[in-house]
Amino acid sequence: MRALVVSDIHSNLEALTAVLDDAGSFDVLWCLGDIVGYGPDPNACIDLIRSFEHTAIPGNHDWGVLGKLDLADFNSDARQANLWTRQQLTPDARQYLESLPETQVLSDITLAHGSPRYPIWEYLLYASTAALNMSHFSTRVCLVGHTHVPVLFSAEDENAHVEAYALEERHVLTLSSGRHILNPGSVGQPRDGDPRASYMLVDPESMSFELRRVEYPIARTQARMRESALPNRLITRLELGW
Ligand code: ZN
Repeated sequence: MRALVVSDIHSNLEALTAVLDDAGSFDVLWCLGDIVGYGPDPNACIDLIRSFEHTAIPGNHDWGVLGKLDLADFNSDARQANLWTRQQLTPDARQYLESLPETQVLSDITLAHGSPRYPIWEYLLYASTAALNMSHFSTRVCLVGHTHVPVLFSAEDENAHVEAYALEERHVLTLSSGRHILNPGSVGQPRDGDPRASYMLVDPESMSFELRRVEYPIARTQARMRESALPNRLITRLELGW
């Protein structure tokens, strides 16, 4: 089976479309949250995800839009974009976001937006934080998003030392033993200095994982954001991959 894993799309339809074109055929789509927030096309991104056989979980921006989180915890640009998104969202799209469970377990893989311990908010940027999360999922692998930075955290077992590894692009990694937390990076707002959309292809039967990056027409997303008067800092950061 071939699963397309996307995270942190953030209403960036151009980036999502480029990922879908680049991925080729797949059997199922897994979405790790933050479908909306920041970008210009929230409803179209939700509709596109829903057009596939898929499993999705919510992120903090999705919950912000639903009013399930206090926007005082967001920075001012994120808050402004979140309030704009609230106004745009159709009742149907809203209901869809409401329906998403916080985590999902699919055979030997857990899906959580931030971390298995605190799925909506916790950032797994470092091996030390990843180590504290290894006992909070029971599968071999946990897929997370939220930081917008692709990474692999690995340990031999639940109590062993955790190391962080960079993921090599277009290299198929097979994880047949140990415990692992993997982040496919962000489709719609990468923050690792590489502005290309980031995603992953997964075969859950062979437990193989491949990170991919693909260029998309950033200027088109930026033009759509300007039309909607979204915050300038959110527009310029896309071309910097920050
Ligand atoms: Zn995000």
